[in-house]
Amino acid sequence: MIIRKTPEQVDQMAAAGDILVRCMKMLSAKVRPGITTEELDAAAERFIRSQDALPAFKGYRGFPGSICSSPNSMVVHGIPGPYELRRGDVISIDVGVIKDGWVADAAVTFPVGPVSSEAKRLLTVTREALFAGVEQMRPGNHLGDVSHAIQTTVEAEGMSIIRTLVGHGVGRDMHEEPQVPNFGEPGKGPELEEGMVLAIEPMVNAGGPLVRMGDDGWSVYSEDGSLAAHFEFTVAVTPDGPRVLTPWHDVL
Ligand code: MG
Repeated sequence: MIIRKTPEQVDQMAAAGDILVRCMKMLSAKVRPGITTEELDAAAERFIRSQDALPAFKGYRGFPGSICSSPNSMVVHGIPGPYELRRGDVISIDVGVIKDGWVADAAVTFPVGPVSSEAKRLLTVTREALFAGVEQMRPGNHLGDVSHAIQTTVEAEGMSIIRTLVGHGVGRDMHEEPQVPNFGEPGKGPELEEGMVLAIEPMVNAGGPLVRMGDDGWSVYSEDGSLAAHFEFTVAVTPDGPRVLTPWHDVL
């Protein structure tokens, strides 16, 4: 069952999203060669707690971090640790915030200093795929319209959608129904209705679509070692169209 939110509840999720956006802005200023992912994690946790909010990932199924930090060929779910960012890396940072019982979830892949033209193109395409998906978040459209818009944007550029990792409904729980695949057929799947809130999150490999698990049981890597990117928004369907509740694009 897809839980629809009232306009008041969507506003509460937007309050969680506002904290998340300010956290992401703070992190963006810290992303540079030499900083470790555990330093980024500590800064994020401090900031989120300073806002009377909770880091949604911390302790989720035993996850030890407040953020996921996934460099280069790591796609998602990286555990923060001693890894030091290097010039030319790309680093995906995923943040979850719980404010007054409501969850917001968003991710950005940052370049660390100047990056290769392939890396730049990967980030541009994945971000554009997210925006293309968001644009379909209108009452009367179907979930497949969101998925298809993401898929076609990525595949038109010769890059690969990862099919085994998907977006999700979000609300009081971080993972609610429905699953939101980043590939699909237009007009298929559940009809989108006012009050549905989805975490839309294209995960893209510059190379082939396959992924493998890391030894820590969390991290996911591109199987061929190619660079990966992940951009995510929490988005509500409203009568006026899509409402992005984690508008990091306004500040980054
Ligand atoms: Mg998510």
